[in-house]
Amino acid sequence: MKALVYDEELKLVKDYEKPVLGDNEVLIKTIMAGICNTDYEITKGYMGYKGVLGHEFVGIVVAIGDKVPKNIVGKRVVGEINCACEDCSWCHRGLQRHCPNRSTLGIFKKDGCFSEYFTLPYKNVFEISDNIDDITATFTEPLAAAYEILEQVHIKPDSKVAILGDGKLGLCISLVFRALNIDFVHIGKHENKLKISRDIGAKTMLLSELTQKQIKSFDVVVEATGSTGGFETSVSLVKPRGTLVLKSTITAKEGLNLASVVVDEITIVGSRCGQFAPILRLLESKKIDVKPLVEKVYDVENFVEAFEDNSKKGTLKVLVKF
Ligand SMILES: [Zn+2]
Ligand SMILES: [Zn+2]
Repeated sequence: MKALVYDEELKLVKDYEKPVLGDNEVLIKTIMAGICNTDYEITKGYMGYKGVLGHEFVGIVVAIGDKVPKNIVGKRVVGEINCACEDCSWCHRGLQRHCPNRSTLGIFKKDGCFSEYFTLPYKNVFEISDNIDDITATFTEPLAAAYEILEQVHIKPDSKVAILGDGKLGLCISLVFRALNIDFVHIGKHENKLKISRDIGAKTMLLSELTQKQIKSFDVVVEATGSTGGFETSVSLVKPRGTLVLKSTITAKEGLNLASVVVDEITIVGSRCGQFAPILRLLESKKIDVKPLVEKVYDVENFVEAFEDNSKKGTLKVLVKF
C-alpha cells in the first residue's frame, strides 16, 4: 500500500506493508488526511519518531478484530489519536490521553494515517453523520484540540479573552470559540488570516496595533503563536491572577523571563489533544465552517509536494485525498 514514511528522509513508499489488525482494533481505509505542523516538526526531529506520519483523517472501517462489534464495518469514521493501555491508574480515571504506556497515531510508536490503511483501537473511533463532509471531518482532531481549552479553563460570560496567533491553530480556536459564543479578540500578524476570524464575527487586532491599554488587561490569553516572542507577548497581556493557556509546543532554546508570571501570579495551563464528541456535535449542527482554512487538497500521488507546501510559512490547512 502507499504510505508517506519518515525515516531520516520523507518519502512516498508504494509497497509499504499493510498493518496487522489487533483483537480490539479496526482497520481503516483512509479517505482524506490533513497535514499538521506536528508532522512537519517530526521531520525536524520532534519525538524522534520514524514511520508512517499523520494523525488527522476521515476514513472507512473495512475490517475489524475479533472483539469488535460488527456493525462498525463500512462506517465512515474519525478517531482519537492516543492509544492507551486501559489498565493503568490514568486510564482508570478516564485520562487515556495521559496514559504513560500510550502510543500515538503517527507521532509515537504507532504508524499514522498517511497511508491507504491503518489501525486504531475500536474505542478510539467515532462514526460520523452523513451531513459532515470529508473535508470538515478531517478537521475534527485539530478542532478537538482547540475545544480542550474549554475542558480545562472556565471562561465566564464576562471574561476578557484574547487568542494570540493567527495560524491554523489560532484559527481553529477562533472557530470553536465563536461556535460557542465566547467573546474574544483574535490578535495576529496577518490581515488576510484575521479576516477569516472577522468573517465569522470575531473581533480582531493586528499585533502592531497593540497599545499599553491591552497590557495586563485579559483574564484569559490563549497562546497559539508557536514562537518564544509570542509567549512573551502573551504573558504581558494577562491580568494579575489571570490565566495563560499554552497551545503551541514551544521548545525555547534561549532563556525565558518568567518573573512577571510570579509577580502577577499568573496561572499557566498547558493544553494538548481534546475529546472528539463535543466537536462532532458542533460539526453536525453546522456551527463550524472550516472551508476558509483550507489551502489546497492534493492527490495522494503528490503527497511529498503537499508536505512541502505545508511547510511554507503562512500556509493554511493542506489536505490529501486518497
Ligand atoms: Zn495535529
Ligand atoms: Zn494506561
